[in-house]
Amino acid sequence: MNTMKRLSRILSIFVLLMSFMLASSAVSDAQEADRVYVSGKIYTVDEEFSTASAFAVKDGQFIYVGDDAGVKAYIGPLTFVFDLEGKTVIPGLHDAHVHIRYGERILYPRTPDIRAKIGDWASVERMQEVIKRCLATGEGMRPGPEPRWLVLSGWMSDVWDPPEFRKELIDAVAPDNSVFISRYTHGSGANSKALELAGITRDTPDPPGGHIKKDKNGEPTGEFVERAPRELTRLVPSLPPMTDYEISRNLVEGTQLAVASGLTTIHGASMTGYEEVQRRIKLYDVGLLRIRINEMVREDAAKKLGKPLNHDNKYFIRSVKAFADGALGSRGALFLKEYSDYPGYYGEPRQNEDQIAKSATELLKIGFNMRIHCIGDGANRVAINAYERALEATGTDGKKARFALEHCQVLTAEDVPRLAKLGIVASMQPLHAIEDMHFAEARMGPERLKYAYIWRDLLDLGVVVATGTDYSVSPYNPFYTLHAAVTRQDRDNNPPGGWIPEQAMTREEALRAATMGGAYVMFAEDILGSIEVGKLADFVVIPVDYMTIPAEDIWKIEPEMTVIGGEAVYTRPVQAQK
Ligand SMILES: [Zn+2]
Repeated sequence: MNTMKRLSRILSIFVLLMSFMLASSAVSDAQEADRVYVSGKIYTVDEEFSTASAFAVKDGQFIYVGDDAGVKAYIGPLTFVFDLEGKTVIPGLHDAHVHIRYGERILYPRTPDIRAKIGDWASVERMQEVIKRCLATGEGMRPGPEPRWLVLSGWMSDVWDPPEFRKELIDAVAPDNSVFISRYTHGSGANSKALELAGITRDTPDPPGGHIKKDKNGEPTGEFVERAPRELTRLVPSLPPMTDYEISRNLVEGTQLAVASGLTTIHGASMTGYEEVQRRIKLYDVGLLRIRINEMVREDAAKKLGKPLNHDNKYFIRSVKAFADGALGSRGALFLKEYSDYPGYYGEPRQNEDQIAKSATELLKIGFNMRIHCIGDGANRVAINAYERALEATGTDGKKARFALEHCQVLTAEDVPRLAKLGIVASMQPLHAIEDMHFAEARMGPERLKYAYIWRDLLDLGVVVATGTDYSVSPYNPFYTLHAAVTRQDRDNNPPGGWIPEQAMTREEALRAATMGGAYVMFAEDILGSIEVGKLADFVVIPVDYMTIPAEDIWKIEPEMTVIGGEAVYTRPVQAQK
């Protein structure tokens, strides 16, 4: 923006301010807003999905939502009036499932990722180049005697030709050092040197919770499904633990990245422990954490807390995270029938139905809901059965319990209606669908695929869908999620027409799932999730109209301002504005 234009903008705000002040000298103290926003295109995401052009904020809450004429009654001598100049406003966005490692993954990474960025896939050549670079520079090398271990992350072999992780691919560039690389999510792989040191051969049995992949001759390929064998992992030298300062800095600076992307509430899915909860409370108390966090804690932490926590409407603990299986790409997802591309194998169970039913019942009695990681139809079945038992055992209505299936990726025809019946929330990640489209059909075949990533069918049944990214599995940008939910395409517009486009959401549904959906699963739909009188003033100003721009451009939206509780916690630097 040039100087003249900026000057005229400031003048116009001033004139507007003066005219409102003159017009409203009689405003009462109780009605006098701290800030008033006018001339916007505001999608309130209320029940009717109504629009407004103005709202007033006082003490961090919306006290009026309506039009420019109506908002005048809230403008007093000290009210700051902000002209939105026709820009679009949406409620603050939720990420209903995120691993809050923004700082550790982006600002201060400790384990290098072979991908250029999260959301991209690394080719074999790129993986080999990164390994060569690390061996030359020492990046990613673990402390210990020579030859040192190299530890990396981020491979995804389904886009390779052939689509298999093989130890020889690493041996070719790292014959002497042991190399261990995590998959981009769940699962890992190692080279021959690492297998040799660990003594892993064709005769090594599968570790608990994991599987050693072997080729047709029975030799280990180097790939591990879910948990890698202890013989190997115990040899990998750990990094020195992060200091308290580093952990806090990662959290504080990292969550500002989330705020800059338009997120105002994030749901932590990392089974946070009691000690870490205390740290986060302190960071809120000293004003360092600004984003709202809804935490999914470990079961023991919930029991130690004894009841749900709401710390100043900023930090919420009401849920417990657990796992029923692993991931689809790694073949850790638990299925009722064998994998289509790996006969005789059903995936890796984690907690069973009895364990989950017991936990869910006990937690429900002290006010917590469970949010269980479920990918395969077998895992979803286990969790749904367990939830049903907990509801029956406690005589609780499902809509009051709000148990959730985290990911809720593959269901069966029989289980789909049970979600609606039992009031179970589907916490889904639209980005996973457009990433998994590379291998989902190979893993499960066309029949099971009919009940996979079915957010459209679930919405039609009245199931509440809350969307998230599962960062750092997928990029944390919430506009990528809105784009994937609506288009079922990746950000290169592939596949043409979308992957199983019948399951796409409308833009309205996608925005609701990214706002009210998140608020609902954390029992905060009365204070968060929409722009309505009485709710906390969380909103995002964006330069284009989300509802009318071409769908393929939704992922490109960059917020100009993010507001949490009436406070602008992010404004896009002026020089970055076009
Ligand atoms: Zn996760």
